[in-house]
Amino acid sequence: MKRYSAFAVAREALRNNTGWERAWASPEPRKKYDVIIVGAGGHGLATAYYLGKNFGITNVAVLEKGWLGGGNTGRNTTIIRSNYLQDASAAIYEKARSLYEGLSQDLNYNIMFSPRGVMMLAQTQGEVRGFERTAHANMLQGVKTEFIGPERVKQLVPIININGPRYPVLGAIWQARAGTARHDAVAWGYARACSDMGMHIIQKCEVTGIEQSGGKVTGVNTTRGSIGCDKLGVVVAGHSGHVADMAGFRLPIESVSLQALVSEPIKPCMDVVVMANTVHGYMSQSDKGEMVIGGGTDGYNNYTQRGAFHHIEETVRALVETFPMVARLKMLRQWGGIVDVTGDRSPILSKTPVENMFVNCGWGTGGFKAIPGSGWGFAELMAKGHSPLTEAFGLNRFYEGRFIDESVAAGVAH
Ligand SMILES: Cc1cc2nc3c(=O)[nH]c(=O)nc-3n(C[C@H](O)[C@H](O)[C@H](O)COP(=O)(O)OP(=O)(O)OC[C@H]3O[C@@H](n4cnc5c(N)ncnc54)[C@H](O)[C@@H]3O)c2cc1C
Repeated sequence: MKRYSAFAVAREALRNNTGWERAWASPEPRKKYDVIIVGAGGHGLATAYYLGKNFGITNVAVLEKGWLGGGNTGRNTTIIRSNYLQDASAAIYEKARSLYEGLSQDLNYNIMFSPRGVMMLAQTQGEVRGFERTAHANMLQGVKTEFIGPERVKQLVPIININGPRYPVLGAIWQARAGTARHDAVAWGYARACSDMGMHIIQKCEVTGIEQSGGKVTGVNTTRGSIGCDKLGVVVAGHSGHVADMAGFRLPIESVSLQALVSEPIKPCMDVVVMANTVHGYMSQSDKGEMVIGGGTDGYNNYTQRGAFHHIEETVRALVETFPMVARLKMLRQWGGIVDVTGDRSPILSKTPVENMFVNCGWGTGGFKAIPGSGWGFAELMAKGHSPLTEAFGLNRFYEGRFIDESVAAGVAH
């Protein structure tokens, strides 16, 4: 595949953009692959990419029931940070954040990583204590993050009201190297690199059954026929429970709709990401100028991949005290994605009761930031049977009561 470069852009400008190749191929499925990944979201595609890049396994198919990146990966608000509390989480999220820094060069695809800084506001004394604890834990884990006071918050975000009557800003946990990236580009960049290695990305191919023999996975039934494999990785986020059910086991996952909205584009007014957990809302400004606003999940399990009116009201009401300018913004559009939430708010990257079948799910409201690290670790788990990055995230933790509690770090939907 031809490399993208400034010279290529100049060359194509001179010949009316007629020389670009398709970014990835659309092949017919083979009868059998060494590895099948179900789900062409960021985590599935990153897994395929690192299977090829780190382990030389390229006889791989990624099967997607819709279009690639059309699940949560293309619907999220793109916050990337790594200041979680527990060691296992800090390790995988920090691996991901550091891979994001060089991902455009690695994939030869501009994923528009913007390390603009992310802050989580402390608006109660409980939050001050919680975030100070996280900042201390991060220092020990080698994750650069700090607790800052209200004046510094105001300096970094001039449009913020730090003297709100109900919830004044008491400080914030601030990670300067955190930021955002272009979500579609992450999926497209991985897909292009996988296709370049000879992997098959097969869209409009829904997995409808898991084939097994003697307790071992042998393939999948799909809407495009039966396809064999030696190893199977299931990376389908909110649909994980369905696919596990096809294989005869249950996952400790709840599926729920998470929503977000964007305003009309306005002039640049905020160049960092701000999350407000107490009132439950968060906001950043996209390169186009839209204010990207994230709210909460529905209070009941569902599979409705769309927005709901009450979320607009709840989220805007939550933010308006801290950002009074929100009251004058016109909202442009709103959407939802089906996220997969575990009881301890940490993901599952694990072997399963079916031999050679693996699951990667439970990223819930905050898995975009983890895509490169998750793909790196899950590929290692699938290739070698173990990975230091994924070890703590096995299904066995739910039997053994060894939870990785991230309810504070993942307390707002991001
Ligand atoms: C509104 C919203 C805001 C968010 N904001 C953030 C944020 O700011 N920061 C952050 O870190 N995270 C955020 N997230 C979470 C993040 O988007 C997800 O954790 C992450 O994208 C999950 O990626 P994935 O690859 O696991 O899943 P997905 O991208 O959902 O991919 C799974 C794919 O599997 C496919 N699939 C399902 N069933 C089958 C089947 N039977 N056969 C074949 N294919 C199948 C689906 O079509 C889908 O494309 C947000 C999520 C939402 C919805």
